[in-house]
Amino acid sequence: MTKNAISDHLKQINERIGQACVQSHRNNGDVSLVAVSKFHPADSVIEALKAGQRLFGENRVQEAASKFPQLREHWPDLKLHIIGGLQTNKAQEACQIADVIETLDRPSLSLALEKASQKLGSLPDLLIQVNTGNEPQKFGIALNEADSFIEDSLERFGDKIKGLMAIPPFDEPPKKHFQMLARLAKRFGLKEISMGMSADFEDAIAEGATLIRVGTAIFGSRPSKDSV
Ligand SMILES: *Cc1c(COP(=O)(O)O)cnc(C)c1O
Repeated sequence: MTKNAISDHLKQINERIGQACVQSHRNNGDVSLVAVSKFHPADSVIEALKAGQRLFGENRVQEAASKFPQLREHWPDLKLHIIGGLQTNKAQEACQIADVIETLDRPSLSLALEKASQKLGSLPDLLIQVNTGNEPQKFGIALNEADSFIEDSLERFGDKIKGLMAIPPFDEPPKKHFQMLARLAKRFGLKEISMGMSADFEDAIAEGATLIRVGTAIFGSRPSKDSV
């Protein structure tokens, strides 16, 4: 992927975000683009930074740690979201490198994050990942446990809980999952709704997404072993 391709793609995506906002009568500023750079080298991230992109998403703590701390020295306003399933033994490192963890999805991770925040004296903002499709193999709190987990998380972390995140099942139209997530967020008065990827971010914007996570449409395809 050449640098021009990445900046061209970013321009196109931002135009499409603008159009989707117009169509759904939303303010452009209410939707933020998370550029998902997993499996792509730091050079690609740098090209995106040079094109003005500041918000990035990575799935794996290890990979994020190998790219982003150095980049922050040159781009102090860079923001990093962890968007992949988080192991409890990576919670502390995630807290050290991320501005937002989008994948709080179980009580054991809450405990690990609480411990890390006590040790570090700080905590990233948090989104709760909801398994809207109730898929057994997927990350995210199950729908029937979501209410009580959100309540517990609000009690534990207060206004560090900024919103909800979901990845709809691949074999279903995403719209009803987007609507489910948006309704749930609204019910709890949570502002951030992270949903929509390369293939469906315009639909997600129509349903109220405030964060869209776009990888392939910006950086090109990833190695096929990565199915997410
Ligand atoms: C990889 C990934 C994305 C980006 O997917 P694309 O289809 O490449 O846009 C978004 N969200 C999560 C959680 C991901 O793992």
